[in-house]
Amino acid sequence: MPNARYIFVTGGVTSSLGKGIVSSSLATLLQSRGFSVTIQKLDPYINVDPGTLNPYEHGECYVTEDGAETDLDLGHYERFLNVPTSQANNVTTGRIYQTVINKERKGDYLGETVQVIPHITDEIKRCIRLLGDTGRYDFVITEIGGTVGDIESLPYIESVRQMKWEHPDMTLVVHLTLIPYLSAAGELKTKPTQHSVKALLELGVQPDILVCRTEKPLNAGLRNKIALFCNVSTSAVIECIDTHTIYNVPLLMRDEKLDQQVLRKLHIPIEGEPDLTKWEKFVDRMRNPKGEVTIALVGKYVELKDSYKSIIESLHHAGVENELKVKIRMVHSESVEQDKAKELLAGVQGILVAPGFGSRGIEGKIEAIRYARENHIPFLGICLGMQCAVIEFARNVLKMKDAHSTEMNPETPWPVIDLMEEQKKVEGLGGTMRLGAYRCDLVENTLTAKAYGRETIRERHRHRYEFNNLYLDQFIQAGMVPAGINPEQNLVEIVELKDHPWFVGVQFHPEYKSTVAAPHPVFVAFVTAVGSTHALTI
Ligand code: GLN
Repeated sequence: MPNARYIFVTGGVTSSLGKGIVSSSLATLLQSRGFSVTIQKLDPYINVDPGTLNPYEHGECYVTEDGAETDLDLGHYERFLNVPTSQANNVTTGRIYQTVINKERKGDYLGETVQVIPHITDEIKRCIRLLGDTGRYDFVITEIGGTVGDIESLPYIESVRQMKWEHPDMTLVVHLTLIPYLSAAGELKTKPTQHSVKALLELGVQPDILVCRTEKPLNAGLRNKIALFCNVSTSAVIECIDTHTIYNVPLLMRDEKLDQQVLRKLHIPIEGEPDLTKWEKFVDRMRNPKGEVTIALVGKYVELKDSYKSIIESLHHAGVENELKVKIRMVHSESVEQDKAKELLAGVQGILVAPGFGSRGIEGKIEAIRYARENHIPFLGICLGMQCAVIEFARNVLKMKDAHSTEMNPETPWPVIDLMEEQKKVEGLGGTMRLGAYRCDLVENTLTAKAYGRETIRERHRHRYEFNNLYLDQFIQAGMVPAGINPEQNLVEIVELKDHPWFVGVQFHPEYKSTVAAPHPVFVAFVTAVGSTHALTI
């Protein structure tokens, strides 16, 4: 094992405690001390990746530079660390089994019986070490999905036990747990935490540090009690109290000395304090905006905010950059369809139409875009949102009746959005889209060229359909500007409108690349446009 230290983050009591945020916050603290850190997520489901999952099931599918379709926690990792992740940062049970079964079929196991232990656990350990073995990281933080006690997480916890046993000085387990407050009793309760640590102990894993999610502060008595029952020192009981924004968690964890606990237990000298000046400034600006704007996010998965996680976070980053609070009004595209654009979009100062697949709610997205175009409201369309902007323009400006994308209507007389050539031969839905980072050349003096302040960009994609160049001249003549082109395949990646204050549609997903350290220029420019016309001063 090279020098990387391995920190495992497990979860107890319930799901949704925020393992991703705690992992990202710990990583941020270590990074601000000058260490190089990466975070990995192990997901216990059988899908090979979340690319084929409906967002209702698992929230947004996040895409990395190298084109991996991954869990949305990787978005948090990148937003906090400002370092790109890759395929190796997200592994599912499906992928583990697929690799083991492929090896078995090739005869690599030489007649052995292939079993969960050691073959599945060996493959899990290989995936964990893969990042450490690159030699690029001082710390690899591995977040184990699910909750301790779940049947499907067992092989992962067993792999953690083995790694702790094999390398006691190089590994550490942080267990995230919940201390519920019972208002009837007026008390915080430690029993669920005791039980979840017991569940871990039964599997042979003693946690080193407990991070306790709580609504109320933990007093010394309570910390001592948790420490005693769970075999950890009192200083390793870390309070993680509810806070106004996820971006405040690194600061809370610093105050609780989580990073110092980690370093001490791994026998690494503690020098000074983490430098969080920029981080503090970001949180401070977020807390004290100079004005407020409301942006409508039009999509079909609005009931579940996690479906648009990266977009929502990017809008907040851009808000901070503009010193504006961005309020987001989630607007269901299906409701817009019932002739309700005016009613549902009244009072918003910006409209963002979300990515998506399939025809549900599509007419509502098109209607919302028409509303933004006709009323000169700043508009950003992402992926399907950009495609809908093209369809709307074709139908209502170019008078191409029933223009559509062939995804929704293969028989349309005006297929202004059509399947990409390379997609025509694709079979199967898993991992077969145009995925990951591609180059795009920006056209001078466009809104996007001004926003980026450069000529060439690389942005991440996740789609099968594309602007149909057959109609390009007609669009240009009527005032739609192809503002960004992929030079390799001559694909229109950005469209803008001439006679509009700020109207941009992007075929790629800028939301995957917005971070605390570097809010994304397209979002920043969008919020600037929104704010410059209508910001309310607070
Ligand atoms: N469904 C569209 C396509 O496949 C858009 C995809 C998206 O919005 N991510 O091209």
